[in-house]
Amino acid sequence: MRTAVVTVGKELLTGRTVNTNLRTIAMKLKSIGIDVNISYVIDDLKKEFKRVLDFMNEDLIIFTGGLGPTVDDITRETVINYFDVETYQDQDTLDNIKAMFDKAEVEMKSSNNKQALFPVESVKLGNDLGTAPGVYFKVGKKRIILLPGPPHELYPVLDEAIEIIKNELDINLISRGFKLVGTGESSMENNLKGFYGVHPKVNVAPYANVGEIKYIFTSSDTDALDRAMVDFYNKYNQFIFGGLEDTLEGVVIDLLRDHGKVLAVAESCTGGMLSSRLINVSGASRVFKEGLITYANEAKMKYLDVKLENLKKFGAVSPEIAKEMCDNLWDKSDADITVSVTGIAGPNGGSEQKPVGLVYFGINFMGKTTIHRKVFNGNREMIRIRSVIFALNMLREILLKNENDETFVK
Ligand code: ATP
Ligand code: MG
Repeated sequence: MRTAVVTVGKELLTGRTVNTNLRTIAMKLKSIGIDVNISYVIDDLKKEFKRVLDFMNEDLIIFTGGLGPTVDDITRETVINYFDVETYQDQDTLDNIKAMFDKAEVEMKSSNNKQALFPVESVKLGNDLGTAPGVYFKVGKKRIILLPGPPHELYPVLDEAIEIIKNELDINLISRGFKLVGTGESSMENNLKGFYGVHPKVNVAPYANVGEIKYIFTSSDTDALDRAMVDFYNKYNQFIFGGLEDTLEGVVIDLLRDHGKVLAVAESCTGGMLSSRLINVSGASRVFKEGLITYANEAKMKYLDVKLENLKKFGAVSPEIAKEMCDNLWDKSDADITVSVTGIAGPNGGSEQKPVGLVYFGINFMGKTTIHRKVFNGNREMIRIRSVIFALNMLREILLKNENDETFVK
């Protein structure tokens, strides 16, 4: 089935918004075995719609963006009217939109009425998160899908559309996967060379993010899927931190909670990012008590009792200072585990001995300290993100390693 995705919006063409919806839609389609053959990014102007609609001859055409109530949102009426199908105003949708406005204590404008326009023969794709419901309809053999633009609204509506396609086309593919940390995509692909041949019935697709890789396994044969996943797990379990829905910080908080251990962190170059990721997990307060941002040398001395002579002797970015930071925090706090991060995020401040990207990590685990040295690639933001991921993974690994230690497990 030939498939086209059209993402709509001037903000995508000016570069103000990154076109993540194309990626989201393409990945979802891939998970049910459908490849996107072509994609357009268009301005929200009638003539641009006409141009692509005249041109496209794909069997499945998905639009995203421009379903909202404002004047520049013209996707719904433009596409539906292009196909010259019979339409109606859906009362339920109007009522829903009205209820949403009432709840927000805002008066509903007549411009919202256009969001209730549907072809008579169509499926409404509910949108609980916004006012614009999606639409699925057929024109002859062509399938047309209209989806909202804001990413958080897109996900659930897209899932509904995918279910319909799966049912109509009798697709019984199953998708599962793993998330990995502490390895890179190219080294994984190197390792996986033989793997694909051994599991011909399973499609294995990597999706790399900064510091993290997702591997998604898709097949219509559950046994083959299970075999491939077990095989993959046995080979790479040291890097696997969870399933597709898991987050690294969530896994760390769970491990801390399982073992009844309390964590505190002292951050320099990550400037609170590590604490922020941990606090993202609901219920973190039971195991994550405090995070200090000690960026300047003065702060390291004031709050962590780091010695001036040591800062002078070794420099703030050194194994000695990383150790002092996490050991002193361990003494000062009631935490069982403390972590310190000190590094050079750049672009300035690097030298031959201490290049930009050099980061030292200290971990005091129940009174025993380990220091790690890493040099990360990338710009300032990347280095900081990679440092946070490294620190989280260092925690995950040490917690797993000590899982069977009787002195550790309460
Ligand atoms: P709304 O009711 O918010 O107007 P809409 O369906 O009309 O919803 P748009 O107006 O096209 O959607 O876009 C709203 C916002 O959603 C944009 O400002 C942008 O931040 C985000 N967005 C739209 N399209 C995309 C896309 N392709 N990728 C990522 N974000 C997008
Ligand atoms: Mg809009």
